[in-house]
Amino acid sequence: MKFIELRSDTFTLPTAGMRDAMLAAPLGDDVFGEDPSVLALEEKLAKMFQKEAALFCPSGTMSNQMAISATVSKGQEVICDELSHIYLYEGGGIMANAGASVKLLKGDLGRLTKSQIEAAISPDDIHACESAMVSLENTVNKGGGSVYSSESLDEISSFCRANAIPLHLDGARIFNAMAVTGQSPADFGGWFDSISICLSKGLGAPVGSVLVGDTSFIKKAKRVRKRLGGGWRQAGMLAVAGIYALDYQVDRLKEDHQRAKAIAEICEKLDWVQNTLPVVTNIVIVKIQPGLNSSSQVALLAQKGIKCAPFGAEYIRFVTHLGFDDDDLNLFEQRIKSSIIS
Ligand SMILES: *Cc1c(COP(=O)(O)O)cnc(C)c1O
Repeated sequence: MKFIELRSDTFTLPTAGMRDAMLAAPLGDDVFGEDPSVLALEEKLAKMFQKEAALFCPSGTMSNQMAISATVSKGQEVICDELSHIYLYEGGGIMANAGASVKLLKGDLGRLTKSQIEAAISPDDIHACESAMVSLENTVNKGGGSVYSSESLDEISSFCRANAIPLHLDGARIFNAMAVTGQSPADFGGWFDSISICLSKGLGAPVGSVLVGDTSFIKKAKRVRKRLGGGWRQAGMLAVAGIYALDYQVDRLKEDHQRAKAIAEICEKLDWVQNTLPVVTNIVIVKIQPGLNSSSQVALLAQKGIKCAPFGAEYIRFVTHLGFDDDDLNLFEQRIKSSIIS
């Protein structure tokens, strides 16, 4: 049986065009700063987001952690939403890598407001843990792919700038957010001091994330990358996959969003589903009926050839991506409707 893969958009495989481009990539030693393909990718993203510099690294976790360690000192704190990837899913890296604390806020589907942030900044008092970074996530993975409005980002950015608090964006799925709102990379470059961008999620590259920021920040981040063991050599084949993704696989993200909406509509009619979180991008989070357990539901769906992920005990997550087309959507509908699950 052909499995329908909806656990994550990280399951995408390089397309034929991407593989060809990778094989043809000019290469060099990136630790010496001599891989032309890596340099081209970094320059492309720095220019796109209108930042001075960029740094290519193996994962989104590493690019977030580089940004935190390059910005926040031991004993200071990062302010973020309680659903943040940097807090929940990076192995305690804020503490382990930067020696920093974290102040968690409860936002709306993972989105914070300027007033919440304002109220959370530590007072200028020797007893307090000094607030040294605000980190937002967009789209919010655990918020079901929720996105920030431009108005909200204008307010938060102006506030942080006026108070000299560095503002970081975990933009693992930033291109999904832009596909919905029409905001541009330059808008984000204006709002944020640092942005991490994943190439290996919806964009469909096999590996890689890029951190953008100003030159002195990226220099510090590069030292952190080396310390974390992320200095790499002929990484250009991966960089070229990223360039290919940016050139050819951004416009199609809208299709993923449409198919995600279709999945939510199908799921809402199932008797074992209570409701779905609002679908804005490529993530569908389904709440199952009380008394059911997400892991057992996921196991039952796997028997029907549908792979999805438990998201806590009461929720199941489906993520659409370039490996899931309209035929797969039809097959998904047939299979999930035939699932007698209780
Ligand atoms: C996937 C993801 C990351 C980074 O993931 P890696 O697997 O380390 O590349 C960071 N933030 C968010 C919101 C993510 O979804």
